[in-house]
Amino acid sequence: MDKKKVIQILEAIAVYMEIKGENSFKVSAYRKAAKALESVPETLEEIKKAESLDGIGKGTASVIEELKQTGQSSLHDELAASFPEGLLPLLKLPGLGGKKVGKLYQELGVTDLASLKQACEDEKIRGMAGFGAKSEEKILAAIDAFQTRPERVGIAVAIKAADFLLDKLQYMEGIIRYELAGSLRRMEETVKDIDFILSTDDREQVKEQLLQLDGILQVVGAGDTKVSIEITVDELVIGVDFRLVQDDEFASALLHFTGSKDHNVKLRQLAKERGEQISEYGVLNKETDQTTVFKDEHSFYAHFDLAYVSPEARLGKDELVPLTEKIDYPSDSSIQSDLHMHTVWSDGAHSIKEMAEGAAKRGYSHIAITDHSQFLRVANGLTVERLKEQHQQIKEMNKQSNIHIFTGIEMDILPDGTLDYEDDVLQDIDFVIASIHSSFSQSEEMIMSRLKTALFHPHVDLIAHPTGRIIGKRDGYAVNVPQLIKWAAESGTALELNASPERLDLSAEWIRLAHEHQVPIAINTDAHHVDRLAYIRYGLGVARKAGIPTDSIINTWSLERLQTYLNTDKSKRMSSR
Ligand SMILES: [Zn+2]
Ligand SMILES: [Zn+2]
Repeated sequence: MDKKKVIQILEAIAVYMEIKGENSFKVSAYRKAAKALESVPETLEEIKKAESLDGIGKGTASVIEELKQTGQSSLHDELAASFPEGLLPLLKLPGLGGKKVGKLYQELGVTDLASLKQACEDEKIRGMAGFGAKSEEKILAAIDAFQTRPERVGIAVAIKAADFLLDKLQYMEGIIRYELAGSLRRMEETVKDIDFILSTDDREQVKEQLLQLDGILQVVGAGDTKVSIEITVDELVIGVDFRLVQDDEFASALLHFTGSKDHNVKLRQLAKERGEQISEYGVLNKETDQTTVFKDEHSFYAHFDLAYVSPEARLGKDELVPLTEKIDYPSDSSIQSDLHMHTVWSDGAHSIKEMAEGAAKRGYSHIAITDHSQFLRVANGLTVERLKEQHQQIKEMNKQSNIHIFTGIEMDILPDGTLDYEDDVLQDIDFVIASIHSSFSQSEEMIMSRLKTALFHPHVDLIAHPTGRIIGKRDGYAVNVPQLIKWAAESGTALELNASPERLDLSAEWIRLAHEHQVPIAINTDAHHVDRLAYIRYGLGVARKAGIPTDSIINTWSLERLQTYLNTDKSKRMSSR
């Protein structure tokens, strides 16, 4: 159990108590305890006595102790079980917190989405204190949005759904091979649905198991070659198609259903010129009427004397090259470092040591610890004093650590265009990231001037998540990316490809442009949890889509090379590469 989880459970207890109508002192005790845990730098294991922390009393301390020892809280579980099952999802509706849900439950007998909808339609809600006719309208609109399947979902949600399904597929009987296909395999930023190719000798057996998957909202179709369902992930509905094929057709089907359409068109043209015809079953030679099947996609491309094309790069542009010109695709095994991550010193879930161990397990030789700076109070940002204390600790750790830890910071670029620390603080830090986390609605002129200050500052090494977007949720601030890229090249500042699937920032097209301007690219996870170090793979997918070589990514450099780079004056970094 990590600290973040404990904090979430304490907060959930507070909400449940609100629904129950418990007195506000009791409720706020749990909120205070959550805050207290968040604001100390220790991990859960390091906190020997929770009660000794400011804001944690006897009652809340015993809940924390129980969570630490058993991974569960009986109070939390009891509370959750005391409400009708359909009530808790109402908390996800915008504008409805514990207090309001409690009122609806106690005064109107609302127990789920259906009864809430009924109460709105019967205009029963407007009469209650704290609600009005407007609230009824808003709730109805929110319920509607909740129950309809969106046109497309962001890649992060789709990945979650796909991972859930991949985990189930591996235990199903009768499946010979299975693989993700479609736009998600190509790492498109938003997807309409999720596609899987499964090979089997017993379609009935596989079909039966697919139709018994958890979370199925409805079965759209269940034929001999295709099973289509809708499942719910994170309160979002997403469609999934499973295509059932014979194993010798697997590679051709996978290629066909991975796309893109434009990529497949190019392949088919090429085949035509050779008197061949590509289908989802194989390649037909028109003269001999023989169909060739392939053991995998590599041999498919080789059949046409083409170099293998990574799924993300199948864009239908210039990706088809002769077999002799093997393409340099950056992969997991080329990564030696992650240079943006958070710990319990700010808003992360783990200690420096735990993050370092996680990175070492991935085979990295170095990392940078980059917690938030003082401006970000909500994220427990570091004052100068705490920053120095942390860096002292890191220097000590480096004496016996098997992985080199760079001291670092993710420093806010403040709304007025200044930086969050003075130069004399920055000059002692190995790796300085600058980012924007505030005042997103400023004019492009102001945003660009903020970025420019950071770019041309002699101690800023990297701009993180340069556009600030959250895919499918938020567009980010008004940044002129081509200008940003030019300034990055002029100033010798690296730009980030933030690998977190919610962000993927910069996107593939901008990464390509940055590379054309020879800007060094850093693929970082921005992990707030040790498990998320693995998300580097999504950043690598975007890099392959962008078509940039392994060497343009500074995380593939050895420790010595990165150290030399960082020790070089920024103005000379571009020419020395
Ligand atoms: Zn950030
Ligand atoms: Zn960050």
